[in-house]
Amino acid sequence: MPFKDILGHDREIGILKKALANDRLAHSFLFSGPDGCGKRLTAVSLAKSLNCSESKDDFCGTCQNCREIENLSYTDVFLVEPRGPESKGAEVDYTGGTIKIDAVRDIQHRLAYKAIRGGKKVCIVNGAEKMNRDAQNAFLKTLEEPPSDSIIILIISDGATLLPTILSRCQRINFRPLPRNILIEMIKQKLHASEDTSALIASLSGGSIGKALGWDKELILEQRKENIGRLMHLSLADPEKIFKAAEDIAKGDSPVELLEFLKIWYRDIALLKERREDMIVNSDLLPLLKEHAKDQTLESLISGFKLINQAQVDMMPPRYANKQLTVENLLIQLSGS
Ligand SMILES: [Zn+2]
Repeated sequence: MPFKDILGHDREIGILKKALANDRLAHSFLFSGPDGCGKRLTAVSLAKSLNCSESKDDFCGTCQNCREIENLSYTDVFLVEPRGPESKGAEVDYTGGTIKIDAVRDIQHRLAYKAIRGGKKVCIVNGAEKMNRDAQNAFLKTLEEPPSDSIIILIISDGATLLPTILSRCQRINFRPLPRNILIEMIKQKLHASEDTSALIASLSGGSIGKALGWDKELILEQRKENIGRLMHLSLADPEKIFKAAEDIAKGDSPVELLEFLKIWYRDIALLKERREDMIVNSDLLPLLKEHAKDQTLESLISGFKLINQAQVDMMPPRYANKQLTVENLLIQLSGS
């Protein structure tokens, strides 16, 4: 799988390929962009291109080196990221927490050795915004004096940031969300889903192929229906139910994502009111949308949409607001409108 097989990022890959061809690759990169859009894939691919035994300035994906890098068992390429389905043999696992100075010292220790296999050492920090201040300051030293045979790739989410001193030392590549047609095509192929279901999942995933492919498609569509049904029937007359729903959402795996479903639902009802059924995402649930549309005005939908959006922003970096309180507050406001 060479660079050309990475879909939807021609511009981003083009920058890297040009630098590779001219032998002018930066020592440190910052890849930023929406979650699951292909930043990690591109970073690992760059590592392959620097170590592939079959291909120059590109990678074959099948040689021993490429396969070891893919499995994260290649000595000179190492990843720092939370443990997850993709992480395989991540060197430093910071599941659920911050990357502390000890982890940075580990990285520095690894980078101090010469590349054993004769290519380039590549260190990828996926979720670099999770480095606390001390860790970032320690990391700065590595960026200021990068080992000559090493490339460092920091990956951060959209909207996240790092100390300005770190930013100024990295070549930044901003990844755009995957174009919708490419996303739908990838979902169709990988999840063996129909065109309609793929389009729906593409919308629900907010443009994240990583997210979409991580889902069990039947389960996610069913959960969406259950959650929407529950959240749209909350009432201030029954605060117990509001608090219980908030607790369930806050304790779930992905409260921000669940609120994304709710936001899309509000948008869909608004579109229905405006007679734009052609733009509705949850087109498979049209009768339910029509039922909910009866109790809402366009104004209440817009204000609901904004409230949900604000709650998402509050729960994400850099704010990290208390999830339970944020969702409670949101559900109370939505139920009262
Ligand atoms: Zn190869």
